Amino acid sequence: MLVTGAGRGIGAAVARAAAAQRYNVVINYTNSRGPADTLAAELRETGVRAYTVRADVADEAEVVEMFADVDRQFGRLDVLVNNAGIAGGYGPLATVTAEMLARLWAVNITGPFLCAREAAARMRTDEGGLGGSIINISSKAAVLGGPNEWVYYAASKGALDTMTTGLAKELANVGVRVNGVRPGLIESDFHLHAPPGRVERMAPGIPMERSGSAAEVAGAVVWLASAEASYVTGAFIDVTGGR
Ligand code: NDP
Repeated sequence: MLVTGAGRGIGAAVARAAAAQRYNVVINYTNSRGPADTLAAELRETGVRAYTVRADVADEAEVVEMFADVDRQFGRLDVLVNNAGIAGGYGPLATVTAEMLARLWAVNITGPFLCAREAAARMRTDEGGLGGSIINISSKAAVLGGPNEWVYYAASKGALDTMTTGLAKELANVGVRVNGVRPGLIESDFHLHAPPGRVERMAPGIPMERSGSAAEVAGAVVWLASAEASYVTGAFIDVTGGR
């Protein structure tokens, strides 16, 4: 399983949950080299193979090289988790600039497209692959819209959801399942993009009256990757406490 942006946060939790299910794991990072290396060592202690690879998912050459690295290390890829993502900024419409949107689209949309292209090329059964699963980490913001905070971020996740729907259909008859997970208010560094205390402020408004953990998101991801979800494609699991 290759997890993008897995040095910390939800991606790290997915890597841990995957290792617990005996997956060998590739931990992608851009800046978090130390935490990624520490996580890989932790997972290797449990008896699985785990290693790290640096790549900016928005950079096509780096993505291509990352998958070539996976080929060299493992010779096969069963699961891609498109987890890497950024908020892009924080603020209402008036704060939007073309420059911030360009970087946001590049990381949150182009990145998952490039990684899906490389993964599907290796997985598809009509080209000698063994089949596989792609899981896109979207956001409930794709549905709620993120008003006054980050409509652009929500829009990028809306694009990711459309990609999930379309690729699920395009790849259904070549053994590749494509699904989405929409986290809600999850404790991670992600909220550092917003004014301090966002999680504490918003938690009481969640139907379950609490935020969620990265591990709770990871559970849904690992289930979608599993054989138990063999007839599930083009689906979305909300991990939102009812939001
Ligand atoms: P964090 O901010 O804690 O982590 C973001 C991760 O993305 C880091 O591992 C970071 O890597 C990686 N990343 C960012 N840009 C790139 C890039 N260009 N190439 C490769 N990796 C990159 O956030 P979360 O763990 O919370 O977020 C993970 C995903 O979950 C994101 O897609 C986010 O949109 C989504 N999400 C999160 C929610 C939440 O409440 N936390 C709610 C809904 C969705 P590095 O550290 O190496 O820079």
